[in-house]
Amino acid sequence: MAEIIVRNLCKKFGDFVAVESSSFTVADGEFFMLLGPSGCGKTTTLRMIAGLELPTSGEILIEGEEVGQKPASQRDIAFVFQMFALYPHMNVRKNISYPLVSQGMRRAVVNQKVKDVARILGIEDILDRPVSGLSGGDRQRVALGRAIVREPKCFLMDEPLGALDAEFREHMSGELRDLHDRMGATTVYVTHDQREAMQMGDRIVVMNHGIIEQFGTPQEIYDYPATMFVADFIGSPPMNLLEFEGEIVAERDYLTLNGQRIGIPPLKESAHGLLVLGVRPEHVSLNDQSRFRGRVETTEYLGTTQIITLSTPNGNLKARLISSTLVREGEVVGLSFREDLITIFNKQTGKALKAIRKPGFSSNG
Ligand code: ATP
Repeated sequence: MAEIIVRNLCKKFGDFVAVESSSFTVADGEFFMLLGPSGCGKTTTLRMIAGLELPTSGEILIEGEEVGQKPASQRDIAFVFQMFALYPHMNVRKNISYPLVSQGMRRAVVNQKVKDVARILGIEDILDRPVSGLSGGDRQRVALGRAIVREPKCFLMDEPLGALDAEFREHMSGELRDLHDRMGATTVYVTHDQREAMQMGDRIVVMNHGIIEQFGTPQEIYDYPATMFVADFIGSPPMNLLEFEGEIVAERDYLTLNGQRIGIPPLKESAHGLLVLGVRPEHVSLNDQSRFRGRVETTEYLGTTQIITLSTPNGNLKARLISSTLVREGEVVGLSFREDLITIFNKQTGKALKAIRKPGFSSNG
């Protein structure tokens, strides 16, 4: 299998910059996610790796070989789309075997490979069925089978589960991840669904307007967002972003908000001006002693937990509390935060300020 290196990759359509100087490395055997909102340049990046789009500048190396200007057919990769284009007049077996037959491979070898792939995907019993009558999930398995049977160096997948309904999508995403773990093939997977990216990916690139906002493991991105965009894009509900005007002294492990001392991971450098305190809803708790107070606006019951929306002098805040916690709408409550997972942002740049994190945790710089 293969390592993929993308270096300073740029794609312009006329004057419009779809991808601006992207650099990342996909390790051999990694399940790698390109995540971001619609139009951020994910598909364009994937199409350049596939050879379906030529880069304006920059390099793409697959297994150490520069392939940026090579046609798709010479890159030994398999591309799986959202709209699985199967041959409707052929049965499942013929659809899967087609790439091998068209290479002139011997019939006995083809039959064995199709059998192996069908076993991996659990579709041995439908090999002789026409594809036209299959369910969405089975059609997607056949499309995957056709990609896998070629044993390419890597798989590129563009929202492959996008056409499936929510429940089945979750099931298939688990299956895809299991399949990856069994085969170990380098995979680059495009999605706009942060839950899918967090659930399936070894590492994630978060893109926005053609730019990479952050690159890391799901936990690094969730716990230590590098930008306010990432803080807001990842998590459901997303990270709370409380604005305040003030000063934070370097290496000091607290700040003062509305007369209340709030513990924070110490910053490497002092900061002042318009700042933003980022805290995840599950890291907010009720605390009678706290002078940082909020008014309960709404409560949303979710079974095990509830989401409380509070108004505070620094903006609205959501807290995820266990459902047995009694709160009434209109009540004013004291609040405290889990201090080691707070992130402070510069409001103007939108970037996280570098913090000194405890050993064992990664940091924002
Ligand atoms: P989506 O999930 O909606 O496809 P995406 O993140 O994959 O979003 P891209 O398809 O990579 O986004 O598109 C990035 C930007 O480049 C978009 O604004 C799109 O309109 C533009 N774009 C893509 N292909 C072309 C093209 N051939 N000509 C002109 N503009 C293009």
